[in-house]
Parts: sequence; C-alpha cells; structure tokens
Amino acid sequence: MRSIVYSCSYVPPEWIAAHGFRPVRLVPYSGTECLQRETAGICHYMHRFLEQASQFDAAGVVVTTLCDQMRRGVECINSPSAASLSSLFLMHVPKTMNSVGAVRYYHEELKRLSRFLINLGGALPDEAHLIEVMIDYQQKRDNLFNHRSDMSGVAFSRFLRSFQAGGLLDLCEDATKSKKLIPVAILGGPMSIEDLGILDLIEEAGGEIVLDGTEGGERTMPRAFHRQRIHIDPFMELVEAYWSIPDVARRPNDSLFIWIKNQLAQRHMRGIILLRNVWCDLWHAEVMRLREWLDIPLLDIDLDGESATARNRTRIEAFMEAL
Ligand code: SF4
Repeated sequence: MRSIVYSCSYVPPEWIAAHGFRPVRLVPYSGTECLQRETAGICHYMHRFLEQASQFDAAGVVVTTLCDQMRRGVECINSPSAASLSSLFLMHVPKTMNSVGAVRYYHEELKRLSRFLINLGGALPDEAHLIEVMIDYQQKRDNLFNHRSDMSGVAFSRFLRSFQAGGLLDLCEDATKSKKLIPVAILGGPMSIEDLGILDLIEEAGGEIVLDGTEGGERTMPRAFHRQRIHIDPFMELVEAYWSIPDVARRPNDSLFIWIKNQLAQRHMRGIILLRNVWCDLWHAEVMRLREWLDIPLLDIDLDGESATARNRTRIEAFMEAL
C-alpha cells in the first residue's frame, strides 16, 4: 500500500486511509547530514520533516498552514533552487476557532484533500467504508488508552507516535511501569526521535509522565467519535472531532488552557515540563502566561535539533529534586 506522509494533528489519518493509502505521521530524526536546503525562516523540526519527507518513498506529502514556519517550509521546498516534492499538498487550517465559517473552511479543505488523494490514484470512500475506517481507528486509540495505566508514561508516548506513524516506526520499548515516582506532565510542540530521550531523562530523575500534552501526544488526539452521529454523517463527525483539538496556534487558544486545567484536576501532577522547539514563537509566547496561570512549577526546555539530553540532564534532575 502506498503511503501519504503528513505533519500535523489536523490531518485526519482516517480520511487518508479511507481513500486507500497508508497514513504516516513522520517523526523526523535529528542530525545534520540531512540538511540540504535553505533553512532561513523555518524551525528545525519543520525543516527536518520536509527534508526527510522528500526522501520518503511516499505517494504524497500533506503539510498544513498552522504556523508561519510551516508555510515558509513549503515555500522553500517549492523554491527554484530546491528539488520540489513531487506531490505536496498544502492544507489551509484556519486558526480562528469560534466561527462557523472557519469550520466550513476546514470542511472544504478536507474535501480538497480528497481530490488530491483521488488524483494520486485513491478512491473516494462511500459512507459505509468511511464509518468502518473511523471505527477501526477509534478502537485502536481506545485500546492504546485502555492500556495507559499499565505502562510507563515514556512507553505510552512512544506507542502513540508509533501508532501515528502507521506502524512504520518501531519506537516501542519495555512498557513496565515504575512505582512511586513524582507525577509530572509534558507539554509543548513536536519532538524528533532523539528528543524522546528527554522523556527517559525525566523518568531517570524520578518523574512519571502522567500526561503527554506535546504535539503527537494525548492532547493532539481527536475526541472520541459519537456513536450515533458517526452513522448519520460520518464526514461531519470526522471534521468536528479533529476541529476540536486544542492547540497553541488557535485563536483564541483558550481551549488549550481549558484542556490543561481539566487535566490538572484529573491527574494530580506536581509539575509541568514544557518542551518547545527553539524557533517556535507560538510556544515561546505562552511560557510566561503559563507560569502565571498555573499553580504548579513549570520547567521550560528548548529543543534545538541537536541532542537535548546532555545539556538538560542537570536542569531536569534539579527540577525533580525541587518537586
Ligand atoms: S514546532 Fe512550532 S514553529 Fe515548528 S512547525 Fe511546529 S508549531 Fe511551527
């Protein structure tokens, strides 16, 4: 089966799978050997995603416009000096949340994505097939979440990313849960494969990750599909489930803060570790607001595309000790 590589939580893998492709949410690896393109104006995460997506044997690549750096990344790929990705789809995701027009726009963008997939040889799914695919994904997500309490937070975060990578990424490890650790949450943007080493550091320093609020973690999963509505209008149910994902880029981004507040009440974590890519203005802008707004300590860690573990070990150990 041919793959479609994508980068963003607002691209529903069910929609790609229902057209007959394997959806792969690429988690890029770090390293400088892959940096062949102009980098100005792109965060290192996006840069590596585009670089590695262009090397991936995929039928197409889907990128969204959620942040300026994603847009800029697509411009660089399309610049005359760069070898362009043969089948690149730029999906416009409105930042505005509380507007019927914005939901309609997102709805139309998913229809446009459908036409792109059909042009690549995919088939327009009928309702019965879409329902079947949506239920299958829902069951797999439920299955993962049902085992959440049996495994360590690190193992769960890795399982989530392997699942989103369509099983092509083997990140799964010993899922044994440690006991008597300090409950903390991680929050923030996306991580490369090497950045996941930070999660091991947190556990080694005595923390248990009880919530993964990073991009690609629990926060960016769609809400559960409604049992009745999925049979009445599956496409609209898909649109609404993904539209409601809370993200720092949305305007207003209150839903992100409400989501954090609800999770704080449910999971009783004692600290939050914010993981943000160094040129990611969106998360950087929220650091102060989060500090003021939260009544638990927050550790702000920047990821620069190189190994983040060595230079952050002492900070994480000190943070856990303080907790
Ligand atoms: S890490 Fe931040 S700047 Fe980079 S692509 Fe994601 S949202 Fe955009």
